[in-house]
Amino acid sequence: MDRYPCLTIDTVKLAHNTKEVIKLCERKNITAMAVTKLFQGNPKITQLMVDAGIKCIGDARIQNLIRLKDIKAEKVLIRLPMLNEIDLLVEYADISLNSEIETVRAISEYCTEHNKTHKVVLMVDMGDRREGVNEEDLLETAKVMAEFEGVELVGIGVNYGCFGGVIPSKESMTDFMNYAKEIQESLNLKFTHITGGSSLHLHMIWEDILPEGVTHLRIGQSINLGVEDKYGKVIDGLYGDVYRLHAQVIEKKTKPSVPKGQIGIDAFGKVPVFEDKGNIDRLILGIGRQDVILDGLIPENDNIKIIGASSDHMILDITDCKKEYHIGDIISFDMNYSSLLSVFNSEYVYKKYI
Ligand SMILES: *Cc1c(COP(=O)(O)O)cnc(C)c1O
Repeated sequence: MDRYPCLTIDTVKLAHNTKEVIKLCERKNITAMAVTKLFQGNPKITQLMVDAGIKCIGDARIQNLIRLKDIKAEKVLIRLPMLNEIDLLVEYADISLNSEIETVRAISEYCTEHNKTHKVVLMVDMGDRREGVNEEDLLETAKVMAEFEGVELVGIGVNYGCFGGVIPSKESMTDFMNYAKEIQESLNLKFTHITGGSSLHLHMIWEDILPEGVTHLRIGQSINLGVEDKYGKVIDGLYGDVYRLHAQVIEKKTKPSVPKGQIGIDAFGKVPVFEDKGNIDRLILGIGRQDVILDGLIPENDNIKIIGASSDHMILDITDCKKEYHIGDIISFDMNYSSLLSVFNSEYVYKKYI
């Protein structure tokens, strides 16, 4: 018997998206690094991507890379390492993205002590104002990091779009590539990992405005959701419905749209506001805010409106819906990134591969 709520993972579509993103990156001789943090480093999904041709995987959490220890691919920790996890980092990741000399010194000390090596990519902040050294400090920092024993400086990296919302431009990426060139020349290094940003870089490939020389892009969103954020649309040739959420109807009633009685606060401390629309046809689904962020949910039928949810109940308005729904029916949803992330983080949502 099928159990709900349930997330379906379409393995055929996911493999297709993976292959298409790899092909797109190959146009510019770029290795697509599959970012696995969306699904908590799920080994089955990651293996599917590796089978589709992925050679390098990245995750922000060391716990996820530990889950992926048996997967044969190069592993990158894409969040700056914490000082408390250096031992795990060296054990379970081949490479990490870094911006602090102090952290790289700690990695170096651990590696020399344990006779190990670790590769380091130096992050530069080109404007998004999240991680990375300032541009004017890049060369000096690279010089120091390149000197450490036990660690190898293998490239520089950049991130856009995640905090400041900055979209990478041709100019900015040209500056970035010039930095890469300058560092390699002045320190006599040959970089293997010049890593641009995320899915937000993919349009630069098909628009042919990405400067030559980027070796890696770190891709999560576009492989999994088929979309990228510059245009906010599904990319041509990719599937936008690899993942779908399904929940079961547990109550069907017609009730007034406004509550009766004095209104205090709801389960999340907010004072709810309701528009008086008379009686409305409602459904309750057996899923709630413990399982999913509501904002990014798109119901299967345009005439279904999500009124809201408490921890365990989601309430729908189906007054305008032509289709009849009954107790036990399943309603399906498409999801954006944050909704999908929340679903993967809910233990209550069954995961089903199709
Ligand atoms: C999450 C993340 C990515 C992947 O971003 P998508 O938008 O999912 O492609 C890339 N780089 C870093 C540093 C990240 O944290």
